[in-house]
Amino acid sequence: MVDFFAVQVAFLLFESIFCFISAIVSAVKNSRDKKAKHAVVFLNVLAGLMLLFDYLTYVLPGRVTPFSKFVMNLSTLSVFLICDLFLVAIIIYVSIVLFGHFDLRREQRCRFRFLTCCMLSVVGMVMVVISHFSELYYIIDEDNFYYRGDLFPLSVLIPVTGMAIILSILMQYRHKTTRSRFLALLSYIVFPLVGFLFQYFFYGFAYMDIGVAVSVHIMFIENIIYQNRQIQIAERTDIRTGLANEHGCMEWIRTRRNDVDLKDYAAVYFDLTKYTLINRKYGVESGNRILSAYASAFAAELEPDEFMGRQTGDQFIIIVRKENLPKSLELLKGLPVKFTDDTGKELTENISAQAGVYEIASSDIKGEEIVTYARTALDHSKSLGSREVVYMTKELMDKLEERKRFDLDIRYALEHEEFVPFYQPKVNSKTNMLCGAEALARWIHKDQIIDPGDFVPFMERNESICELDMYMLKKICSDIAQWKKEGIDILPISVNFSRRNLADPDLARKIDKIVKDSGISKELIEIEITETVDEFPLSTLKEFVDSLHDLGYSASIDDFGCGNSSMSVLREINFDTMKIDKGFIDRDHSKDLTILNHIIKLATDIGLKIVAEGVEQPAQVSTLKNFGANVIQGYYYDRPLPKEKMFERLKNPKYDKGEEE
Ligand code: C2E
Ligand code: CA
Ligand code: CA
Repeated sequence: MVDFFAVQVAFLLFESIFCFISAIVSAVKNSRDKKAKHAVVFLNVLAGLMLLFDYLTYVLPGRVTPFSKFVMNLSTLSVFLICDLFLVAIIIYVSIVLFGHFDLRREQRCRFRFLTCCMLSVVGMVMVVISHFSELYYIIDEDNFYYRGDLFPLSVLIPVTGMAIILSILMQYRHKTTRSRFLALLSYIVFPLVGFLFQYFFYGFAYMDIGVAVSVHIMFIENIIYQNRQIQIAERTDIRTGLANEHGCMEWIRTRRNDVDLKDYAAVYFDLTKYTLINRKYGVESGNRILSAYASAFAAELEPDEFMGRQTGDQFIIIVRKENLPKSLELLKGLPVKFTDDTGKELTENISAQAGVYEIASSDIKGEEIVTYARTALDHSKSLGSREVVYMTKELMDKLEERKRFDLDIRYALEHEEFVPFYQPKVNSKTNMLCGAEALARWIHKDQIIDPGDFVPFMERNESICELDMYMLKKICSDIAQWKKEGIDILPISVNFSRRNLADPDLARKIDKIVKDSGISKELIEIEITETVDEFPLSTLKEFVDSLHDLGYSASIDDFGCGNSSMSVLREINFDTMKIDKGFIDRDHSKDLTILNHIIKLATDIGLKIVAEGVEQPAQVSTLKNFGANVIQGYYYDRPLPKEKMFERLKNPKYDKGEEE
């Protein structure tokens, strides 16, 4: 035979403990919504106390010590009081969940109903205290047994009325919260309410406590689910703009692909133009406001089935229907954004963006790929230095793929020393004697010799050219050191340095260190560099050349006569040597020859040595000689030679050419 009474008592104790544990768990849990958290803790503590006191009212009857009589009275009083206090706790919680706050003094929605509940609660509690001394609600006899009093129905009526009012608020504003949260709240009201009524008619069982216990369990579980969901949402949301972040973007693609055909959409990855300037102009705080105002303004232009997310900083992605793409691209050209600056003034700034587009080609493409393609299109647009929108196409994709492979090959080549210096002799045409050489890089790749024209321009896209130049310098120094050991006379070798190196303010010192480490003398190294206009100011080049001089190296200006060489370069920078570009020498119109003649004169007059490059024909040699340019580098004398051949040449520096005088 099951002892229902014992089960009930055990149940009450267990549930009371559970409520306290649940209150502690809620209290220590990190929650963004502090108000809701406090309300839950309050509710759970009340529920725990009520169950505990009710538990005592079940175990104490029959015990007639003064202490048990006192506890019985206290417990009964407390249970009745808590029933009324519960009303306040529940309205606070309901108000926070539905409206975000509870403050009867402020603009509180349903203020009248909330106030009525509070009044009921207060009246109820006063009545409980009065009845305790006048035995209106309940009587506790000498044997410590409890009986209902004449006015007992009133003790039920007050909380039940309050609950009904709260229920009406909850039903009216149920759309203000999620469905699961609404159901949990509903259970918190309905279960105790039903319990209350049951207990009224079926005296002897703790139905109300069961109702409270059930709803505390539901609330506990719902809270855990809700908080986890909040964490998940936070992980997918960008705090600044409220848009989805990178994870949110992936999530959107993953879930949307079930409902729509992604092939109908295009992804646009974009980057706000001049956002740094805006930040500087208005300050970071305002800059942040502009960013979120821009995000809201742009997102408002999208259709419900379209997406906008923030990736990083001022970079966003949108996924829009292909037919809406032109409209979005138009918005990217300029969108007026209203914001308030730090002084509170209302301002408008027109914000534009640079974009890359990927028109999604297949329905089952991965989210990561969509984003990468659109972003790569944007990167490509930036690398072109244009403001044009770049569309990611199959051709572009292949090209970029190839470039990536190429970059990997270059990296491998640098690590595995596949680059070697070749040396192209410089010859004094007057004496036919070798007078120096230029080191030129060759890439020995899969048994093929690759000329710099096929890799230098690519390496100049990134920093790898700087690595190559330093690497070449080391190799050249070690070749010279080796030749030196053989006891032959070495002539100066010029080494090419891309002007990309100028970004490094320590360049001259690094060059000096490599040369010193190799133990060769400084006069044997000459640095060749093209003049610079676009990337760096002339002053940077000047500083570099000056520090080379300070350290004891000479410098030459490469490819003079082609490109942007200007008089100011000659005036500002103290080069030692001018290398005249092949293109200049190739032309044989009388006008060109006159210019060549004058350049040579000018260079000689300002004390520059001259090297004529790319000389192939005997006629060119005699023209140059007539103009006074005697140092010749070109196929006429020699092609770039591998190290061993150069060694032979150094041993036999005399050329056997008809031009000899
Ligand atoms: P550059 O510094 O102007 O080098 C001269 C180029 O003209 C060399 O081409 C050389 O082989 C070629 N050349 C010399 N004489 C003649 C001739 O009579 N006829 C013809 N048609 N061509 C001649 P190369 O070796 O292919 O190098 C091309 C460019 O690559 C170089 O132009 C230089 O700008 C760059 N380069 C080569 N090695 C390096 C390096 O180690 N570092 C850097 N940064 N650039 C390098
Ligand atoms: Ca050169
Ligand atoms: Ca050159």
